[in-house]
Parts: sequence; C-alpha cells; structure tokens
Amino acid sequence: MIIRGDQTDIRVEDGLIVAVGPQLSGAGDEIDARGLTVLPGAIDVHVHFNEPGRTDWEGAATGSRALAAGGGTTFFDMPLNSSPCTVGPREFAEKRAALERASITDFGLWGGIVPGNRAAMADLAECGVVGFKAFMADSGLPEFPRADDLTLYEGMQEAARLGLPVAVHAESNELVSGLARRAVAEGRTSVRDYLDSRPVVAEVEAIRRALLLAEETGAKLHIVHVSSGRGVAAALEGKRRGVDVTIETCAHYLYFGEDDMIRLGAVAKCAPPLRDAAERKALWRAVTRGDLDIVASDHSPAPPEMKRDADFFKIWGGVAGVQSTLAVLLEIAALERVTALVAANPAARFGLAHKGRIEVGCDADLTFVDLNAEYTVSRESLFQRHGFSPYLGATFRGVVRRTMVRGRTVFLDGRIVAEGGGRLIHAESRIHA
Ligand SMILES: [Zn+2]
Repeated sequence: MIIRGDQTDIRVEDGLIVAVGPQLSGAGDEIDARGLTVLPGAIDVHVHFNEPGRTDWEGAATGSRALAAGGGTTFFDMPLNSSPCTVGPREFAEKRAALERASITDFGLWGGIVPGNRAAMADLAECGVVGFKAFMADSGLPEFPRADDLTLYEGMQEAARLGLPVAVHAESNELVSGLARRAVAEGRTSVRDYLDSRPVVAEVEAIRRALLLAEETGAKLHIVHVSSGRGVAAALEGKRRGVDVTIETCAHYLYFGEDDMIRLGAVAKCAPPLRDAAERKALWRAVTRGDLDIVASDHSPAPPEMKRDADFFKIWGGVAGVQSTLAVLLEIAALERVTALVAANPAARFGLAHKGRIEVGCDADLTFVDLNAEYTVSRESLFQRHGFSPYLGATFRGVVRRTMVRGRTVFLDGRIVAEGGGRLIHAESRIHA
C-alpha cells in the first residue's frame, strides 16, 4: 500500500512503514493523502476507560473509537476506575483480555501502587505494564487507596529495580483533604469553594516530595496532569538537578481556566482543578518552549447521574476529552511540537520502539489531518459513551480525516470503520534501559 502525499509518500507492508520518500513506486493499493498532513498517530498515555467493571462509565469500545476519531492510535489505561483495579497480575490479565476484545486501537496498561501490593509489582512488570501509577491524594475510589509516603518510597524502590516509571497524581493530601473537609463542614460547597480547596501550592509541594523520593530511589518519575506554571517550574528544578522526570499536562488545562469551571460546572470538574489565567499562560509558554514533555487527555467520564449535585464536592470529577487533545494542541503549537508532545515523546519515555514516528520499521500508526478545514464539537461528533464534554460548541482548526492503526484504517471521514483489532503494545518492543 502506498500513501501519496504532496511531497512525501509512505509505503506500508504488513502494518509496518517500509519506505518514506518522494514518488515511491510499486504495486498495491494507493491512498490519496494530497492536501492532507500525515502525522504519527497520537499516543494518549493517560485515560480511564474503566473496563472491565465500569463500562457504563465508558468502556474500551467507545473510548478507543473516540480516541481514533481524534487522531489517536494507542492509549495507556490507568489502573482505575476499572473493577477490579489493575494492582496484580490476575487483574492485568482480565483487563488485557477485555480490551483486546473491545478496543479498535492499540493499548498499554498501567499497574497501580497501593498500600500492600509491592510484592505484585514484579509480576505486573512481567505482564508488561508501561509503569506504575500512584495517587498522593485521595483517588476517590476506596479500592484504590492513596500511596502514603512509605508506600510511595518503597514502590519507587521496586519500580527502580524493575526499570519502570512511576506516575504520580501530585497533590498534597494533607492540604487538599484538610481544606475540603473544612469547606464542607462550613457548608461552603460551590465551584469556587472547590477551586479554593485545591490551591497551586498543594501541587507544588507534592511534586517536590515526589522528586525527592525519585532522586533518593533512582526511580523514573512521570508527573501526570501538571495543572500550573508553578508546578512545571518545580518539576524543571528536579530535572535540572538530574532527576529522571517527565512532565505531562492535559489539553483541558491549556484550553480552559477556572472561569470556565465556574461557567461549565460539573462537566469541567477535575483534580487538580482548572487554574487562573496567569498559570494557564505559563503552561502555554511551557508547551511552546519544550519544557513540557507530554500532553494527554486524562479522559475520565462518569454516568450523567454522577455529574449532578448541588454540592460541587460530591460531583464525580473527570473531564471527557479524549477526542479533542490533538485539536487543542493544533490551536496552540507548531506541528513539530505537537507531534513531539503526543507521539514521539510518549513513545520514547515508555520505550515503544516501533511507535510515535513516521520512519522505516515503525508501525504504520498514522493520522491524516486537513489543516485547512475546521469543525465544531457537537454531541453527534463525539464517539464516547456519554455525550458530555466541556468541548461541546468549541470550534477547532484541523479535521482528522483518517486514522490508521498498523496500516488498518479504523476511522474515515467521520465514521468508525473497524471492530476490535487492538493489541497490547509488544512487551518485547519496550526498552527498559
Ligand atoms: Zn487520571
């Protein structure tokens, strides 16, 4: 198969890119991509598809369709809110089987670090987890308790021994839980009260503590959903003194601010919360400068009935934006930066030797984008289970026309054209050096 571009063609055989160059010759099918920009498929390192066990919240069938419609070809599913959570090899096997049945894109799985599961980490590594996720603040799910400092310290020691990264949700539990308890006790339960209960300093303090533990143990650290410029600055300090750390933010921290959370309400509730204009501007600067390594979606939907309550603290948090990450980034950054943030950097950090780049020998995971067209997000355009998204009504430049996973077209001109077919990323292709 040959993909004909304006200047460059790509030849694909058996799902792999075998040649890249101008005017390639050869027999086989041809796909006309002239007028379109072909990018490496996006790798979303942070989603909650909640399968098995909570497919009424999302599920890998609908989640992977939304990912593909937004130009994504691989996702990493978090160890929660599936039921069971991915904290041991049996849970891993159950999730892997469910996702291989349901997903139209490839995927990797995170394992969890929770109090008491350290002995299972080596088994999870053997299963092929991409890394281990720990919550420094309450996760909201009783079966996935937060990692206290001792759990995190010893979890990092083990992860370092196994050569796998540790991802942390970095917010100080002391600060955010204490402030939340007090606000609720005093009957202050508005959106504004929620925002005030999770200040930037709670993020900065937790990032510094995680960096210290990573430095001490030699663990690779990945800080998920950094929401503030000061959070990025704290992580960069660690990077400068030699900590092996990568910094992730999510599209919603770039696209929305705290005013939007007040305006939109439940659909925009997330933790850490959306931030003020100055912090948001600092995040944009970090994107354009290259201080940020990865942008993910942290797609985390819930059924509509969990998104309604007069008490904002009781509303289930999580933004459903898996389909919009690439669109948001195309608004903000140059193409090369965008592909680094969503494809090349994730592949490099998590050792996916055959993904994230358009190069000979790589999987033909490709996204065809029309940069001259624009579209407005509507309920009908979303492929996720519930049509809830803070992006409804937003207009973006750059329309995904086709998404290809290992040479197989899964999304074409607004329609999903595949059933299943997703694979766990090859454990043998991961480099843990
Ligand atoms: Zn998350």
